[in-house]
Formats: sequence, C-alpha cells, structure tokens
Amino acid sequence: MTNVRDYGNWIEGAWLRGASSVERRSPANGELLARFADSGEKEVDLAVQAARRAFDDRSVWSALPGSERGKAIGRWIDLLVRDTEKLARMEAEEVGKPVRFGRGETEWSIELARYAAALAWQIPSDLVNHAGDANLGLIVREPRGVIGMITPWNFPLVTLFQKLPYALAAGCTVVIKPSELTSSTTLEIAALAKEAGIPDGVINVVTGSGKTVGEALTGHRGVDMISFTGSTAVGKRIAARAAEQMKRVGLELGGKAANVVFADADIDAALDGVLFGYILNQGEECVQGTRLLIEESIAGEFVSKLVERSKRIRIGLPEDPEADLGALIHEQHMEKVLDYIQSGLDEGARLELGGNRLTDAPFGRGYYVAPTIFSNVTPGMKIFREEIFGPVLAVTTFKTVSEAIVLANDTNYGLGNGLWTKDIDKAIQVSRELKSGTVSVNTFLETSVQMPFGGYKESGVGRENGLDGLLEYTEVKSIFIKVGKRAHALPHTAS
Ligand code: NDP
Repeated sequence: MTNVRDYGNWIEGAWLRGASSVERRSPANGELLARFADSGEKEVDLAVQAARRAFDDRSVWSALPGSERGKAIGRWIDLLVRDTEKLARMEAEEVGKPVRFGRGETEWSIELARYAAALAWQIPSDLVNHAGDANLGLIVREPRGVIGMITPWNFPLVTLFQKLPYALAAGCTVVIKPSELTSSTTLEIAALAKEAGIPDGVINVVTGSGKTVGEALTGHRGVDMISFTGSTAVGKRIAARAAEQMKRVGLELGGKAANVVFADADIDAALDGVLFGYILNQGEECVQGTRLLIEESIAGEFVSKLVERSKRIRIGLPEDPEADLGALIHEQHMEKVLDYIQSGLDEGARLELGGNRLTDAPFGRGYYVAPTIFSNVTPGMKIFREEIFGPVLAVTTFKTVSEAIVLANDTNYGLGNGLWTKDIDKAIQVSRELKSGTVSVNTFLETSVQMPFGGYKESGVGRENGLDGLLEYTEVKSIFIKVGKRAHALPHTAS
C-alpha cells in the first residue's frame, strides 16, 4: 500500500486542517491514496480574504515590476522541475492514467509556466497622442484582482497551468478549488510556490465539493473573476451566477471534436492521429477526437485498419511504464460511458471493437473500459451528439467536402477539430469553415504555449495560453493626460 497523503487547505502560506475530510481511492485498484479537507463557506471566506489582502497591498504582488513576478515564477519553475517525478506519479495515481502521461502533463505544465513568466516582463500597454502635443493617452492593463479558479479531474495540472501562471504574471492573486478527486498536485504546487518565495496569500487552495466550495467561491463578493474548466452544464451555472455580480468569467468547457479524413490524406498518418485522438487520457479529454468523419470511398478499409491498430493499444495500471490507456475516473463515470455504449447499440450503430468493461486481473478492481469503435453512426444518435468522455469513437461517412463541413459543425460544441488531406486548398477552405477554436491539419492534439486555446459555441468563453491567456487576467484602463494649460471649456465662467 502506498503512503496515504493527508492534506489540509492551503491558506495564506500555511496548512489549515479541516474538521472533516474526503477520501480519494485509486480508480485503478481501489487503494486509499489521499484525504482532502472537506471544506465549506468558512474556509472559502478565509482564503478569499487572504487573497484580497495580498492583492490590495500593492507592495506584495499586484504592483511589483512584472520582471520581479516573472523571476519569482522562474524560481517556482525550478522547484516544479525538481519535483516532476513526484507530481507525475501523484497525478497518474489519482486520475488513473499511465505514469508516462502524468510525466508529460507535468512537463507541459512547466512549459506553460515558463512562457507565462516571460510574458510578465512586458505586459502590453499602449500610448496615443490623440490631440498631438496637447495630450497624452495611456492605455494600461491592470491585474483583474482576485481570481477564483475551479478545475476538473481529467488533467488537474494542465488545466490549472493554463490559468495560474498567466494570472500570476498579470499580478492577480488566486483561490483555487481543484476537483475533490484529484487535489494532491494542486496543493503540492501551492506549497512549492512558498518555497520559491512567492508571497503568502498569492496562491490559496480550498478543497471540497463543487456544490459547497465551488458555489461559495463563485458567489463570493471578494472574487473578481471565476476561471473554470469542466462540464458545459456547470459552466452555464457559473456564468449565470457570476452575472448577478457582473463578475468576469473564463470558461473552458466540453467538446465533441471530429477528425475529418479525406480520401486524399496520408492514410498512415491519419490512422495514427485518429487512434491517439480517441484514446488519449482514456478519452477523458475535452478535445478528444470522439468523432471520425470519413470519406465514404475509403471508409471500410480505414475502419478495419483502425480496429487492427486499436487492438494493439496497451492497457495498464498507472505505474506501468508502457501503458497507453488507464482507468476511468470513478465507477459512476464508467457506468455513464457504458450507458453511452449501450445507447449506440440501441440506436443502430455497428460495434466494430470493444464495448465492454475489463474485468480480468489486474483490471477487475478498477474502472477500465476497452477501446470502442462504432461505425454507421448518424447525427441523430447520442454517441454523435453528447460528450461521452471515454475511449469511444463514433464513425460517420460523407461523400462531399460540404457534407463533411456540415457534419463536423453539427454540434453545440466548438472546441477543436482535425482534418486530413494532402490538398492545400481543401485544407484551408475546411479550416476556415469549421466552427471551433482550434483546427489541426494533418495532425491532432497538437498544442503550443504561444497559441490561444478555447471554444466557440457551448465550448466556452475566452481564451487560455498565448498572449490572450495573459490578457484574460487584465482590465484595460485609459488614462487621459493634459499636457500644458487646458483651454477653458466655459470661458465666460473663468473670469
Ligand atoms: P464538473 O464540471 O462537474 O466539475 C468540474 C469542477 O467544477 C470540479 O472542481 C467540480 O467540483 C466543480 N463544480 C461542480 N459543481 C459546481 C458548482 N455548482 N459550482 C462551482 N463548481 C462546481 O465535471 P465532472 O467532474 O462532474 O464531470 C462531468 C462531465 O463533465 C464529464 O463526464 C465530462 O463530460 C465533463 N468534463 C469536461 C471537462 C473538460 O475539460 N471540458 C473536464 C471534466 C469534466 P467537484 O467535482 O470536486 O465536486
């Protein structure tokens, strides 16, 4: 048995024990991994007050030179690098993913922080001479204030690092509510920030459920903005509640991405991209390539090759260094995925592969679902329309480019899509017409710290990463300065 981790909340640079706790057991084998404080409104209020004090005292963080904040984030990064292996293992254990993906996630989080730290050195500002020598206009960006961050369980570190270092670089202070299932790495990185010399109160973490801690954070008057990643249903609720106080929101929500494969594609590359796209992170991913739209003339051969390759996917426990696919996050979620599979069968899709839970040793005590492929999927089916969040691929055929575009856009979501063709004109035309924040051409799940990430339609509001990711955490202020003597507006009143 692994050592059970036992955490309090992290408030103003210190651990604060909770009166009660919630347990996290391994979704792969049922072992007890950690206990997190089961907090409520009182702890949220303490954390928000701490973040408020750290923000309002301008000498602590918010009005430091950006370079000072950048350097502090840099020292924190050194500690994240030092502890990469520890963080990667915790992440893998709690999510149920193979450890090499936990490692990749930690390394990518560090990369995001490096970029954000560099941005801190030069927060964009502008200057206008709108009346020649007589005036000076300064357009400055100020940190938004105290940010409430609410994050999910699928990529606990990456979803946090698409927010946290950018908010810190901008000069904000934060209160984070991680998923109650996967809070360890968030608590660990907050404590590392203190070791790096980031002042107390700048990063606070309160653990517990969305219904108590998440709701209290969203409704707290001391919070200026909520930055949320998770389901569209909860995102809508947060947006509605935030609107009551005109609180700013950043929302990274669900997706239903399609990989569109044309007959003129590099088929080997497309097979690889489609396969990786539907099984990465057990399919528990907002940009998962959960739909395959394939040109009819190559559909049969493509699907049988995909099935053959999918049979070679290595399923494993989190500690297995070679595993490709791990366990789903919890039993209810696994049941939900299995219900979607049943709905595919009931609605007339053809099961090409999988469709079952894995019950043989060593997977019987965990929540493992086999890679699953359905063909003959039509747009009316649930598996075409709804976010499944499991290793399930829905295959639909098309005959023309315009039909492919209509099918890809036939969803309430708009986070990402991929397309595969060697025809450059077709690639550009389709990229332009796909209604999603990200389009990948002849690749999939590629990402860059410099490029914004976010959704069209019900996939969200705002952008993370890139310069846009920093600007989300700023307010714009226009300062008008008169140079020289001001001409009287009402001269007859002046004498
Ligand atoms: P949720 O959207 O419910 O959870 C995400 C975060 O929001 C968690 O920290 C959760 O807390 C918190 N939360 C829940 N309810 C509230 C609330 N009323 N106010 C404020 N915060 C709240 O996702 P789930 O974990 O329940 O997953 C359900 C489905 O959501 C998945 O099956 C998947 O389809 C989708 N999802 C999408 C993600 C994405 O990246 N787009 C990520 C995760 C899920 P807690 O869970 O601790 O109670």
